[in-house]
Amino acid sequence: MHPHLKSLIELQAVDLRLIGIRERLGRFPKQLAEVETRVAAARQKVATAKEAHITGQKERKTYEMDVDQWKERAKKYRNQSAEVKTNEAYKALLHEIQNAEDEVAKAEDRLLERMVSGEEYDREVKAAEAAVKEIEASANKERQAIQSEYNATQKELAAAEAVRTAAIATVPEDLVDHYERIAKRHGGIALAEIRGEGCGQCGVHIRPHVIQQLQRDSNEGFFHCETCTRILYYSDHAAATGHSVPSASAVPAAADPPSAPAREN
Ligand SMILES: [Zn+2]
Repeated sequence: MHPHLKSLIELQAVDLRLIGIRERLGRFPKQLAEVETRVAAARQKVATAKEAHITGQKERKTYEMDVDQWKERAKKYRNQSAEVKTNEAYKALLHEIQNAEDEVAKAEDRLLERMVSGEEYDREVKAAEAAVKEIEASANKERQAIQSEYNATQKELAAAEAVRTAAIATVPEDLVDHYERIAKRHGGIALAEIRGEGCGQCGVHIRPHVIQQLQRDSNEGFFHCETCTRILYYSDHAAATGHSVPSASAVPAAADPPSAPAREN
């Protein structure tokens, strides 16, 4: 086996782990934002209910004033009735009194309606406030859980990055560059295990003499899959190192049909 291939296999394993860790880290802001959105919506409900309640109270004041004004007018007309000289004027005045009393009744109806709905608004405010308390309490718990999960994931990231540093320490820089260029083009997977007679990643048939070369302990050459360009390795060697690329399992290759999770055409 090529002397650096073992390190590359370790590098590949930790890189796949890093991809997973970074994906998880990337999801935290959205999780937090969802919690905040829920809290904000509950608070908005309280604000809306309070606004409706205040508007209702203002209307109630207005309707109370309406009642008083019409009552005042009716009283004024009644007082005038003693001074009326003609029958015609008296009739007109009676009409005005009747009209004012009708308006009093209408304003009182509106006021009563407003008082009833005022109680309803009051209940809505209280219910919305209770809901906010509940949602804020559960949001606090969720924030804490998300935070501690985030901290744990950060630790995982630091540990995996340390493993990566160790894995590439002995590998020449241009080989690391080569590996990274292939990985970048192929969803982070630069290595492909030989499975059966094919590439464990794209499934294409590999020439027998290449497989024979890779199977030799004395082999010091690099071989690439002609189709996906990934660096090929033989699984027995990977099993001996204790590392294999997760997507190309370490199960004896001949028993498995080639799977191609990253097939490209
Ligand atoms: Zn391939």
